[in-house]
Amino acid sequence: MPKVLVSEFAVAGKLVKRTYAIYGGLVPPFTMEHLGERYIMPGWYKLSKDEDMPNIEDIAYYPYKPKKEPLPNIDSNKVYKVKSSKGDKEYLVQMDSSGSMVCECPGYQFRRSCRHIKTVLQP
Ligand SMILES: [Zn+2]
Repeated sequence: MPKVLVSEFAVAGKLVKRTYAIYGGLVPPFTMEHLGERYIMPGWYKLSKDEDMPNIEDIAYYPYKPKKEPLPNIDSNKVYKVKSSKGDKEYLVQMDSSGSMVCECPGYQFRRSCRHIKTVLQP
């Protein structure tokens, strides 16, 4: 279920701007009127009488992200050992709890991707 969060910015105690953020949901934000009330959708956020109808551009949108597809040729419990390019070291590559591949080499720590992971992912 999508959620609408409101942030308020005040200057010297006077409200200057409200921004809205929608988390989840599969459709981008829109506003609508229903039975005399105004809503931000998705999420059914009801605007109170003193709230202006926001511009769509002022509503941040963080869509629902489906879980990653499982990697076809990867055993999620296995630790893969991959030789470094010089061949003098071995790095351990494995799947973390979110389903992403992680490596212990310095390149991965820096770039979140490396040759060792690519080697493991190769069919
Ligand atoms: Zn690596």
